[in-house]
This record gives sequence, structure tokens and C-alpha cells, in this order.
Amino acid sequence: MWTLAQRRAIPRLLLEWYQHHARPMPWHENPTPYLLLVAATMLQQTQVATVLPYLHRFLERFPTVNHLATAEEEEVLRYWAGLGYYSRARNLHRAAQQIMQHFGGEVPCEPHLLRQLPGVGEYTAGAVASIACRQPEPALDANGYRIVARLLAFDGDITRTDSRRRLWEACRQIIPEDAPGDFNQALMDLGATVCTAREPRCLICPLAEQCLAFQQGKQTSLPVMPPRRASERVQDACVVVEHGGRWLLVKRTEGQLWRGMWEFPRVRVQNGETLEQAAHRAAASVGMRVSDCKLAATVRHGVMHYSITLCALCGCATGAPCAETEARRWVSPWEVEQLPLPSPMRRLVRALRDTAAVR
Ligand code: SF4
Repeated sequence: MWTLAQRRAIPRLLLEWYQHHARPMPWHENPTPYLLLVAATMLQQTQVATVLPYLHRFLERFPTVNHLATAEEEEVLRYWAGLGYYSRARNLHRAAQQIMQHFGGEVPCEPHLLRQLPGVGEYTAGAVASIACRQPEPALDANGYRIVARLLAFDGDITRTDSRRRLWEACRQIIPEDAPGDFNQALMDLGATVCTAREPRCLICPLAEQCLAFQQGKQTSLPVMPPRRASERVQDACVVVEHGGRWLLVKRTEGQLWRGMWEFPRVRVQNGETLEQAAHRAAASVGMRVSDCKLAATVRHGVMHYSITLCALCGCATGAPCAETEARRWVSPWEVEQLPLPSPMRRLVRALRDTAAVR
């Protein structure tokens, strides 16, 4: 796959570049396996700039595997709230419990053991093993796959499993044994700052002479990705049931998305249905009836291929308030954010608090 010249030059050039251009990261001084496990889990699907404040806060509250393993899931979700993809938080929590149970609280360094932990795939295992444990294991994130595909002028669809396996094995062939962590981080940093998805800066790239895509003028057409699915616009209505100065919140208990997090009763608005009718249906789903439903706030957000307009309608409870249960709580507007809320719901809560109607 690689030419001899590429094999020799790429690791050397990449590491030289990294010495001068590494982005500062919180694990550079003391790259412990636990820190890398948390950081790499957060970095799945999320960019570094977004992750860093969350990482600091999370590690302050859960500084060791034991702190994380013994926390309530709800608290872990609260510290994750805003990062999205909450199954990562639940898996990390379960992984910490398994590390306590099977590895005496020490995050293992062996990639095959790491991959057995919930939520730990090739990338996370590779990041922990190479950066914290100095093992010659690739850790290709989206940036890494893109660079390797371009270096090789690889024209397969890089979202396919077989393509990824080939690129992973190609990376394994050139990862230097004496600096695997730096090599992997150099790929990530080069991908974030030079070999970017839309506008690769080949003229300042340290690998330009070794890059087949650049030599063939294909740097912007590679890597090959499947066409994006067009997003579908939908509207959700949630009802803010107010009783005695408190709001009714419900816990999501089903499905992967936002499971364990709290929100106002919510339904998808159906064809021909008014927002008010949908709000009554949302209230009825938790055994409540409301009167005088009025639109109070709207936020937009995306989930997978849906573009969602989320409307909050405020209404007064008629009849007795439903009882609190594991999955229903009456909460004052000022306490709501102590619960783990999906970020669109947090934005909605803030918008509602800013309206005179709920002060
Ligand atoms: Fe990416 Fe261009 Fe560098 Fe090739 S030469 S690795 S396409 S930035």
C-alpha cells in the first residue's frame, strides 16, 4: 500500500511538524489512562474546542475511576449535559464500574481489554493505549482517516467498515514504536489545522511531497464519502404545565436518545394538528389536563437527520397535579437546571425564564 519513500518519510515528517505545532491538550503533562479514556470518549463525535471545558468540569467532579463508578447515573448525565450523544456518558459510567470490578480500578492498557469496555471502540482504545501507555496502536478519528486516505489516494468510501479496516492497517504499518502517542496526536492535529475536510492547506503541509492525493490533484475530492441524507423538518411541542409555581418534568426512560434525562412532556406535532392540540396531547400523555395553552418559546435543533423546531406552550394545570414518581417531578423554574437536561431543553428553559409569563 505505502511506497518505501512514504513509509520512511511520513512518520519522521509528521513528528517533526508536531514538535512545533501540537495543540496544547490537558493530558500532555500527565497522560493517565483514565484521563485519556474520558477525553477520547468525549472526543468521539465532538470537536476539541467544545470538549475542553466539559472535560475540566467532569474531571474535577470525577477525578478517579472510583469517583465515576460510584456516582449516580443522573449526576454523570448532568455533567455531560450539553455535549450530546449521551449514550457515551452512560457507557463511560458503566465502563468505570467494570474497571473497578475487573481491573481493581486501573484502566487497562491493552487494546483488546479496552475494547471490551462499554462504549470503547478502536479509536478510544487506540488513544488510551498509544498516548497513555505508549503502545504502537493506531487511533484514527475522522481527521486521521481523512489524512491516511488522502496520503494513499484511497478511493473507497471511508465510512465503510472494510475501507476503515484497510486504512487502520495501513496506519499500523507506519506508526513509530518509539512515539506512537505523538504520531496519533500529530495526525489528529494535522487534520484539524492543515488537512481539513473542505480546504486542505497542501502548500504548507509537511506531508505534501508524500501525498498521492495532492500529487494527483485529488485532495478536495478525497476521501470518498456517501452523499449526505437531506434533513427532514419536523415540529415538536412540549407543554410547560405549571402548578403552584412549579413545572412538571418527565424523565426519558425509553430509547437511546436522551435516556435518563429530563424534559417537559413532549410530542411530535402531527399533520393537521395545531400546536395547542399537540400541547394538550403532551399533557394527557402524563395524565394532566391544561387550560390556556400559549406559545412561550421556540428553539431549533438537529438530531440525526431531523431538523426540529421545538415549541414550548405554557398552560395551567386543571384538576389535581399528578403525583411525583421516579420519572415525574415538579420543579421550580430555578431548580430545573440541577437536573440533566438535553441541550435544546436547557435552551428552552432559559428562554422561558426570560419571559415575563413565568417569573
Ligand atoms: Fe492533506 Fe494536502 Fe497534506 Fe495531502 S498534502 S495530507 S491532502 S494537506
